Amino acid sequence: MKRIGVLTSGGDAPGMNAAIRAVVRKAIYHDMEVYGIYNGYQGLMDGKIEQLNVGSVGDIIQRGGTILYSARCEEFKTDEGQNKGIEQLKKLGIEGLIVIGGDGSFQGAAKLTAKGFPCIGIPGTIDNDIAGTDYTIGFDTALNTIIEAVDKIRDTATSHERTYVIEVMGRDAGDLALWAGLANGAESVLIPEKDEPFENVVDRLKRGSERGKKHSIIILAEGVGSGFEYGKKIEEATNFETRVTVLGHIQRGGRPTGADRVLASRLAGKAVDLLLDGKGGRMVGIQNNQLVDHDIIEALNQKHNVDMSLYQLMTEISI
Ligand code: ADP
Repeated sequence: MKRIGVLTSGGDAPGMNAAIRAVVRKAIYHDMEVYGIYNGYQGLMDGKIEQLNVGSVGDIIQRGGTILYSARCEEFKTDEGQNKGIEQLKKLGIEGLIVIGGDGSFQGAAKLTAKGFPCIGIPGTIDNDIAGTDYTIGFDTALNTIIEAVDKIRDTATSHERTYVIEVMGRDAGDLALWAGLANGAESVLIPEKDEPFENVVDRLKRGSERGKKHSIIILAEGVGSGFEYGKKIEEATNFETRVTVLGHIQRGGRPTGADRVLASRLAGKAVDLLLDGKGGRMVGIQNNQLVDHDIIEALNQKHNVDMSLYQLMTEISI
């Protein structure tokens, strides 16, 4: 394979730039040409494609977001949309494509591969909700953003003797909430994967208060429901002054952590290796700190599992 393309699609995630950089540099090292496709699948259909060189990806490893921009595009879910995309790629003599994104983006990559155009998926999303990899690019940075924010909220929670409910992202996955709960020493974590009886949460708050605790932190994953509603219920049940913070899109931005930069570079290197071997229809991942690749459709058919041993530990130490 002599000429490949790379795009970012779906929700952006810190570390995507590090992945783009590694794709471009490694491919050039192996004498391939690399084309950047702007605005995800929309830009692919529209032919917003240009060749990238070593310098095009300079000074981006430390930046959040994606220099290729990202987009959501309904038309690409149709046969016509996908055929348009393939036409654009063929026009430029591009033979393989690397897609950095979440599971929706992987669906698109699988469709192109099924039409004879080899694609490799690199998991890039803060939600950590993709099967076939222990971590996705952006998860660690988003986790650290949450940790910093909750540390700050804890200061004011203590000063005012309040209970805080903090809603974090993660779509249908509880990973961000669970990891942040452990890292922030929260009283309770509410995740979609585990039904936590409301009485347990209230009992923990009351026990803490009786012990003289000055504040309580509850971290709620967005997949569970509204933080505001939960906060209201807590206040009604306990009479403790309760505040709610929805962290929102600050979780998607910022400089990628070292872990995300290294992960992004490693996954990108693996993706280029697969295209060099003429493979398509694969996703790359990291499992037990080993680089792996899986059939992209099989991975899409599997469910990502949050690490419930962390939930158990959380239960045991937030008594
Ligand atoms: P993410 O990749 O973060 O999960 P989305 O689910 O929004 O984000 O998907 C990103 C894009 O991938 C969509 O806007 C669409 O262009 C493409 N896509 C999603 N699902 C499919 C599908 N079933 N077939 C083809 N393309 C798809």
